[in-house]
Amino acid sequence: MNIHEYQAKAILREFGAPVARGIAAFTPEEAEAAAGKLGGIAFVAKAQIHAGGRGKGTFKELPAGAKGGVRVAKTPAEVKASAAEMLGHTLVTVQTGPAGKQVNRLYVEEGAAIEKEFYLSMLVDRATVRVAFVVSTEGGMDIEAVAHSAPEKIHTFSVDPAVGIEPFHGRKVAQALGLSGACAKQAVALVESLYAAFTKTDMSLLEINPLVATKDGRLICLDAKVSFDSNALFRHPEVAQLRDESEEDEKEIEASRHDLSYIALDGTIGCMVNGAGLAMATMDIIKLYGRAPANFLDVGGGATKEKVTAAFKIITADPNVEGILVNIFGGIMRCDVIAEGVIAAVRQVGLSVPLVVRLAGTNVEEGKKIIRESGLNVIPADDLDDAAQKIVAAVKKEAA
Ligand code: ADP
Ligand code: MG
Repeated sequence: MNIHEYQAKAILREFGAPVARGIAAFTPEEAEAAAGKLGGIAFVAKAQIHAGGRGKGTFKELPAGAKGGVRVAKTPAEVKASAAEMLGHTLVTVQTGPAGKQVNRLYVEEGAAIEKEFYLSMLVDRATVRVAFVVSTEGGMDIEAVAHSAPEKIHTFSVDPAVGIEPFHGRKVAQALGLSGACAKQAVALVESLYAAFTKTDMSLLEINPLVATKDGRLICLDAKVSFDSNALFRHPEVAQLRDESEEDEKEIEASRHDLSYIALDGTIGCMVNGAGLAMATMDIIKLYGRAPANFLDVGGGATKEKVTAAFKIITADPNVEGILVNIFGGIMRCDVIAEGVIAAVRQVGLSVPLVVRLAGTNVEEGKKIIRESGLNVIPADDLDDAAQKIVAAVKKEAA
């Protein structure tokens, strides 16, 4: 689960990490009042969307050359004017895709006098099975580009969970970033507080880009992107309530209501499968035969007819879906339950695209019979290979 920058910064602040003072705002008036409350001579109004690259982003509704989603202002009145341009408008960045994201919230922050920008992130490194730090002197930039053009500028190390975070970790960061004096000391405290925040709240990613050194010698986390491990959210109700559903894919929200593992993708073949491994294999074989999956969907081991119906509705609601492949291996899951769910869903929502169903395993004959006798236009398939070829052929025929 992802959260907004301002929410991430509130968590970092709780753990003692240095962040600039700021106030969230939902209207231009609130933004102006926030700046008034912060005081000072420079403010930054920042669009809050679940995507980075906001500074260099562009607003769909504004003329080319207009400012992006991170704007410096000198007075509360200027903050208000900037807020009016951003709120309710669609910000397109390298991370949003061409459709962009509507800006519904802003974060008004005190302006920092930046001396130098750095990159710092933390993630769970699968290779070492540890929390890893990734740091670079090339802050404020696209880190993937740095990794490509100057990999030697990226430093990575991990933390032994048995020992925990130690001052030498902070010194490593300071050294990698070329910090000395007061900033090097602050790096030690910073790394400790970030590690505590990461592990105590079950983050899966924390990216500070940029971490800055200010002209008066302070380290500040100037941007913050945080993702949490969804499987650990039950331990953190206060984190779970930070969820902003307006930032998420509607189909994925609906799927999570039914406890379905669903991820929207950009292909054209909707897939309904039981078991993550089989779902992956199904997506692969669709690719092999020249089409791409519209989603990953695992209905799980013990799905009910209602769950299968919900899953089918989510797939058919996707306008990109040109054909559907149901691929079920009945183990704990029974083929007749799947068949009933599919038929019930088709009766409710109709079927405007080809549907291939491959069933195998427990109660397969009952399942096939239910489908046969439904009178619906379902293409039966015997195995995975056959099913993938049939759905791709049916979609091609439909398009011709
Ligand atoms: P994004 O990564 O989405 O573009 P950032 O929060 O990283 O958004 O902001 C982009 C740039 O704007 C930063 O690299 C930094 O140079 C500048 N910036 C952001 N917040 C502030 C601030 N509070 N004071 C001064 N400059 C800022
Ligand atoms: Mg950034």
